[in-house]
Amino acid sequence: MAKSYENEHPIKAFGWSARDTSGILSPFNFSRRATGENDVQFKVLYCGICHSDLHKIKNEWGNSKYPIVPGHEIVGVVTEVGSKVNKVNIGDNVGVGVLIGSCRTCNSCTNDLEQYCPSAISTYNTMYYDGTTTYGGYSDLMVANEHFVFRWPENLPMEAAPLLCAGITTYSPLKYFGLDKPGLHIGVVGLGGLGHMAVKFAKAFGANVTIISTSINKKDEAIKLLGANSFLLSHDPEQMQIMVGQSKTIMLASERDRLKYHDYLYRSYIDENKKIKRCPGPGCVNALEFEIGS
Ligand SMILES: [Zn+2]
Ligand SMILES: [Zn+2]
Repeated sequence: MAKSYENEHPIKAFGWSARDTSGILSPFNFSRRATGENDVQFKVLYCGICHSDLHKIKNEWGNSKYPIVPGHEIVGVVTEVGSKVNKVNIGDNVGVGVLIGSCRTCNSCTNDLEQYCPSAISTYNTMYYDGTTTYGGYSDLMVANEHFVFRWPENLPMEAAPLLCAGITTYSPLKYFGLDKPGLHIGVVGLGGLGHMAVKFAKAFGANVTIISTSINKKDEAIKLLGANSFLLSHDPEQMQIMVGQSKTIMLASERDRLKYHDYLYRSYIDENKKIKRCPGPGCVNALEFEIGS
C-alpha cells in the first residue's frame, strides 16, 4: 500500500490542516510515529495561535508545503514515554514550542541556543530525520524527543500555551538584557501577541511601560486592560519625538512595523558569543531590537 499521511506512521492522529493559500483549515487524518526510546507522546489539550501560523498557512513567507498542520505553542498530558526518557512521566503536563529537533553538537546547540542551530527542525512544516513532514499542535496527539519537551508547572494554567512562543520571545530578552529590574522605562512597539506578553512581563518586573502603536484603538486595551503607563501613536511625529533622546529601552514586538522605527532606533543583534552588536546597515535586523539609553 502506498504511503499516505494516514499510514506513513503507526499511530493515528487527527488535526486541522491548510491545503492551500486560502487560509482555511479543514479536518485532516494523519499519523504520528511510534514513541521512540527518547520520545514523549502526549495528548494535546491546548495550542496557541501564533501570527506565524497565519503567515505559514497562507504561504506569505513563500516556503510553505501543503498540507500544513500549524501550531507551536502546544500543551498537553503525557500518554507514553520511551524507555530512556527520565524528564517526565505518564500523566505529567508538558509543553512543546517552536522546535522539535536540532543537531545537538554545534556551538549553538552545546550552549543551549538550539534556536540558532543551522539544522534546527521546526515543530511543523519541516522535514524530520525520518524524511516525513512535521505536523504541529492543531491536532490531538504529539510525539517529540524529550529534549524539546518542557515540563509544565503544576500551578500554571495549561491554557497559557502562548508562553511557549510569544512568551519566551519577549521574556528572554527582558531577562537577558537585565531589564527585569524595577524602575526602568520600557517602550513596546506593537500590541499584538508579542506585545501583550511584553507589557505584562515588563509590568511584572516593575517597569514603567509605554506602548507605541499604529492604532489609537489599542490605547484603552494598553492602559486599562494591560496596565501600561502611557501610549504613543507611532504615526504622529510629535508624539514620537518624545522618544528621541530619552533613556528608554525600546522593544519591538511587531514584525510588520519594525522597519518604520529605524529613524528612532539603533539596530542591534546578538552574535555567536552572546554579545550585543550594532548592525552595520540595512538588512541586518533581528526580531527584537533595542536602543539602550542615548
Ligand atoms: Zn510563534
Ligand atoms: Zn546544532
